Amino acid sequence: MLGLMQQQNLLISDMIEFAEKHHGDTDIVSRRVEGDIHRSNWATIAARSRQVANALDQWKLGVGERVATLAWNGYRHLELYFGVSGSGRVLHTLNPRLHPEQIVWIANHAEDSVLCFDMTFLPIVQKIHQDCTTIKHWVALCDADKLPADSGIPGLLSYEAWMGKQANTYAWPALDENTASCMCYTSGTTGNPKAALYSHRSTLLHAYACALPDVMCLSARDSILPVVPMFHVNAWGIPYSAAMVGAKLVFPGAALDGKSVYELLEAEKVTLAAGVPTVWQMLLGHLKAGGLRFNYLKRTVIGGSACPPAMIQAFNDDYGVEVLHAWGMTELSPLGTLCTLKNKHLELPKDEQMKIRLKQGRAIFGIDFKIIDDQGKEQPNDGKAYGDLLVKGPWVIREYYKQEGASPLVDGWFPTGDVATVDPEGFMQITDRSKDVIKSGGEWISSIDVENIAMAHADVTMAACIGMAHPKWDERPVVVVVKKPGSAVTREDLLKFYEGKIAKWQIPDDVVFVEAIPLGATGKMLKTRLREQLSDYRLPA
Ligand code: ADP
Repeated sequence: MLGLMQQQNLLISDMIEFAEKHHGDTDIVSRRVEGDIHRSNWATIAARSRQVANALDQWKLGVGERVATLAWNGYRHLELYFGVSGSGRVLHTLNPRLHPEQIVWIANHAEDSVLCFDMTFLPIVQKIHQDCTTIKHWVALCDADKLPADSGIPGLLSYEAWMGKQANTYAWPALDENTASCMCYTSGTTGNPKAALYSHRSTLLHAYACALPDVMCLSARDSILPVVPMFHVNAWGIPYSAAMVGAKLVFPGAALDGKSVYELLEAEKVTLAAGVPTVWQMLLGHLKAGGLRFNYLKRTVIGGSACPPAMIQAFNDDYGVEVLHAWGMTELSPLGTLCTLKNKHLELPKDEQMKIRLKQGRAIFGIDFKIIDDQGKEQPNDGKAYGDLLVKGPWVIREYYKQEGASPLVDGWFPTGDVATVDPEGFMQITDRSKDVIKSGGEWISSIDVENIAMAHADVTMAACIGMAHPKWDERPVVVVVKKPGSAVTREDLLKFYEGKIAKWQIPDDVVFVEAIPLGATGKMLKTRLREQLSDYRLPA
């Protein structure tokens, strides 16, 4: 017998319609690349996303055609999120931090038809436009009078002139909920980038999940500042979840330095912010230097790479801000786990609670995970056994866009490329990316553990642990460290600092001081590049 409930497809257009109807006057605030603060609200965003949809119709862009963006977090980008996907086209967020050649490769692979870009990225577009073979329309996200007369880009339009003349009424199409809605390429640290192609259904289910109390706990009482870029896995789904719950959104634009982010957090009474650890490092540095405090911030979601315990502690103990440690990846839309305590943990002493908070967290309903060994045998959830982490769920990819060869799935599970442990309570902890694991004398050393200890030292700004070939032990860990400016910390000091914090054989053989650690396009340490830079390095005898 079938149920007798209404059959309604899960569509992105419904989220913006909802936000307009029930939270129309809720603020959407953006620091623009022009430098000023711009104020909009959900009703205006909805109206303008319908204008975008009309403008795309006028170009006769078909369902499924790709509309690419090269843009910071801001209101125009948000309008494209809803206008492009809502009208049945696929929003393709390009990462401007990639090398221009990679951007060309990705735009051609995706067969983008349109590119909308912030004026900051005009020099990139000028460099690449002739090599992008499928893009027919170029739109600069600016007012008509800001459009340069001599950009060299044929037919370049200003966003405001392009969509501004359209009607703000539009009947969103009744799409199949499995229709593709957006696409996002992985950063491709190994091989060519690969694209996850999300659907309306997967995006909506992910948005529901993100808003749950044990996940980001989003509500109409929140003012949310996603520092994580809208060009990086849809800013972790926050724009959609915010529309779904009617939260206020605050966009930082291009100004991601500690001072600018802090000013916005305070001025817009932000209650929740989200970003990768490197961004928060800058913010904490700014607070410390100025003796500042947060007056409104309550929670911050930190993920994308392991959040050092010292950072969780600083937010918690020094500033009274709860850190929600999150794990995910492009192929997971991106959220997989988030770390919040259970009822029985509430009575634990603070330091016991902290041990749990450092982990990447528990599964969110919708995501299942398991760890397996080399032979594919499932490993116990005892918090000690580690294995390759596999996931499945309705917002996990089935295959990549234009997949070559077989699907990446193993018996229906997606192999994440991460190595993890799972404790008896179901809390997952990433020990490494499988390609970064250090194998010493037949045992594995977690590079994340080694890095976290160095990061807890008062004189260390950043630390990366890599394995170096060793004639006897196969590999031995070396920690590469960026010192705090003016610090006189020595190799010996740091090696001593490890004593008692980690098994003796896991203590690095050496400390290498560098000016900077190379970061990838999504703010993560690029260990491949670091290994190349240290190709002449030899372990101490
Ligand atoms: P890319 O794969 O393009 O670098 P992703 O954002 O998809 O970018 O990266 C996903 C990977 O980032 C995960 O597989 C994992 O290795 C790492 N990662 C994400 N969040 C965390 C976290 N909280 N702790 C440790 N590693 C993380």
